[in-house]
Amino acid sequence: MGSNADLLADKTVWVTGASRGIGRAVALACARQGAAAVAVAGRNGEALDALAREIEGAGGQPVLVLPYDVGKPAEIKEAFIKFNKALGRLDVMVNNAGIIDDALLGMITEAQIERVLAVNLAATIHHMQYAARLMTRQKRGSIVNIGSIMGRVGNVGQVVYAASKAGVIGATLSAAKELAPSQIRVNVVAPGFIDTEMTRGLPEEKFKERLASIRMKRVGSAEEVAQVVVFLGSDMSSYVTGQVIGVDGGMTI
Ligand code: NDP
Repeated sequence: MGSNADLLADKTVWVTGASRGIGRAVALACARQGAAAVAVAGRNGEALDALAREIEGAGGQPVLVLPYDVGKPAEIKEAFIKFNKALGRLDVMVNNAGIIDDALLGMITEAQIERVLAVNLAATIHHMQYAARLMTRQKRGSIVNIGSIMGRVGNVGQVVYAASKAGVIGATLSAAKELAPSQIRVNVVAPGFIDTEMTRGLPEEKFKERLASIRMKRVGSAEEVAQVVVFLGSDMSSYVTGQVIGVDGGMTI
């Protein structure tokens, strides 16, 4: 999906965790696909400003920079008020911001549980709540939550992370059932092992172990995840809801 097309023409998109990695690739892909406006969120305002300049500089659409911490519900609310004033309409909400903080079961701290669940799960629920309010007005919309293959299969050292991502799947399925009558679709994209800062931080041994479990024998790119997000955000998937779509090079088959 390197070329310009119009899969998202007239659609306003909001991407959390857009300052780097998968979220940044999603924001760029949405812009390339002709989104009417793109709101980019994260805590690193400088990286978001640079992304906005990149999109707008390419002759692209207006970008709304929303710097806030998704782990703080009051900041999410503020961001939605700001978004509503600036753009008003929301067609595609991409809940991508996430953190990883591995620890074996016996070593997990209360702080780790609180933070990982707040950022990966509670924030997704809060964003779905506010997004659904905006989307219900227009009786149309698509919410794409970024889960993880680990939320389905689990992993050593990832009790908390896997629980947060399994929670994202459960929350998505329930929201999909609630929102379907309003023509709002809710799906999960579950990446496997993708080349971003998150995975570059892994010790070499773990990296090799992970790679060996992938049938396609390579890591995925953020762009390969972004393509699936664009599909779910677009009308190409107009009858797809409540699904978990793995993007994992055959890691789980
Ligand atoms: P990165 O660590 O590269 O990027 C994470 C993004 O989330 C950053 O933009 C960061 O922005 C944002 N973020 C983190 N914490 C917060 C916070 N408290 N408030 C606001 N924004 C926050 O990760 P990836 O791009 O690799 O991962 C993106 C998503 O994909 C995550 O949900 C992750 O769990 C999931 N995933 C990734 C996989 C992989 O192999 N990479 C595999 C499976 C799932 P900032 O620092 O500016 O706040």
